[in-house]
Amino acid sequence: MKRTPPVQVGQTIEYTITGQGHNGSGVGKVDGFTVFVPLAVTGEQVKAKITLVKKNYAQAELVEVIKPHPDRTEPLCPVFEQCGGCQTQHITYKAQLEMKRQQVQDSFARIGGLPEIVVHPVIGMTEPWRYRNKAQVPVGQREGGGIIAGFYAAGSHEIIDMDACQIQHPDNDRIITAVKKIANELKIPAYHEQTHQGILRHIMVRIGFHTGEMMIVLVTNGKHLPQKQELITRLRQQFPDITSIIQNINTRRTNVILGPTHRLLWGKEYIVDTIGEIQFKISPHSFYQVNPTQTKVLYDQVKKMARLTGKETVIDAYCGIGTIALYIASSAKQVYGVEIVPEAIEDAKQNATLNGINHAHFEVGAAETVMPRWLQQGIQPDVVIVDPPRKGCDSTLLDAIVGMKPERLIYVSCNPATLARDAKILHEKGYEVKEVQPVDLFPQTGHVEAIALIQRKIM
Ligand code: SAH
Repeated sequence: MKRTPPVQVGQTIEYTITGQGHNGSGVGKVDGFTVFVPLAVTGEQVKAKITLVKKNYAQAELVEVIKPHPDRTEPLCPVFEQCGGCQTQHITYKAQLEMKRQQVQDSFARIGGLPEIVVHPVIGMTEPWRYRNKAQVPVGQREGGGIIAGFYAAGSHEIIDMDACQIQHPDNDRIITAVKKIANELKIPAYHEQTHQGILRHIMVRIGFHTGEMMIVLVTNGKHLPQKQELITRLRQQFPDITSIIQNINTRRTNVILGPTHRLLWGKEYIVDTIGEIQFKISPHSFYQVNPTQTKVLYDQVKKMARLTGKETVIDAYCGIGTIALYIASSAKQVYGVEIVPEAIEDAKQNATLNGINHAHFEVGAAETVMPRWLQQGIQPDVVIVDPPRKGCDSTLLDAIVGMKPERLIYVSCNPATLARDAKILHEKGYEVKEVQPVDLFPQTGHVEAIALIQRKIM
């Protein structure tokens, strides 16, 4: 039966928020119809104005909080409401953690049809600020000249100029501010998205929390970077500890930040960081978790759930630069890793050597192609670890895992919805979720990370 939505764009409604949805938005029902409103908190009575109506849901903006939640708090950042980077600074950290736990539980109940699953309290940070090791900011031109760099306003491509981000490592802020200033002095033109003219598109900065190594990537619209030498000299003067300055070339009309090629302007093409005892070499294109403090907590949980004795064969699918595989390698007989980005696999292989690990095997390719091949080749893992992007695992991959009959599957997920969907599929194929441990990798934001221990049923 087709139903006409009970709300229209422009209409002001009053309703109760019953949960936190995707990206930390408040969500509630109006005549049984789902309405999302950012910056609203579960339990609140709010007044909101409808901005978008779709077949199954509507989006609104907050007009007034009629009955505020007791866990509401003052956001630390002055541009919190304009910037799209954080979504939950208006909620105390303790309440953020409980909301994330509830979101995981709700996903398992609603999407996975598994309401009974035990979801442990979220492991949060003692100091939930200044935790990010990587910043990537779009560059633009102020009307009448002058370079700005900051973040896109929520849901748009309007650049908000910003000098301090409360979730970034302070050095990342310093470098971005310096690049902006130097680019202004040297009159390097900012890229303009609509006209596809101009040069400097993005500034990306990565810092090794434990080594202090720093990489700056300047993304340019074409090979030409005016005043290149002077720019490098000034950056090195201001940041004598910088390890790597790279120019990335992206001439495409796209939202993807990095282009396919880069050239080294100064230093080395990578930085090194450590997690626990293990060293990792990280290239500009390679994925590396953004919250190093909590990454160790996450990996320790994975290791605990894997219950390794030194005799096991372990597969790490979606392995990035091999972080999980190498972190657990000393407790396993053999580890395998598969990852789609060739540069990341190059890093993974070198990381194995760097750490003297010679029982790790890494392959480039889509996990859903490589794993079925490994199954055919007769590789029999005792434990499989998967850590897919937001869209979750391909069903071909899940079939290959089931075919390999591992005792345990450890599913690391950055999206509770696809985790619950895949858990349901696995449940039907003889694997049951034993426990779920969320770890807060992204304080002040709506992003949720969780690890599920999924065990083969004894039949
Ligand atoms: N486990 C790693 C990386 C997790 S992020 C860590 O903790 O650092 C997910 C990774 O999956 C990224 O490196 C991404 O490049 C990779 N990826 C995305 N789609 C893939 C696919 N179909 N097959 C294999 N790897 C994929």
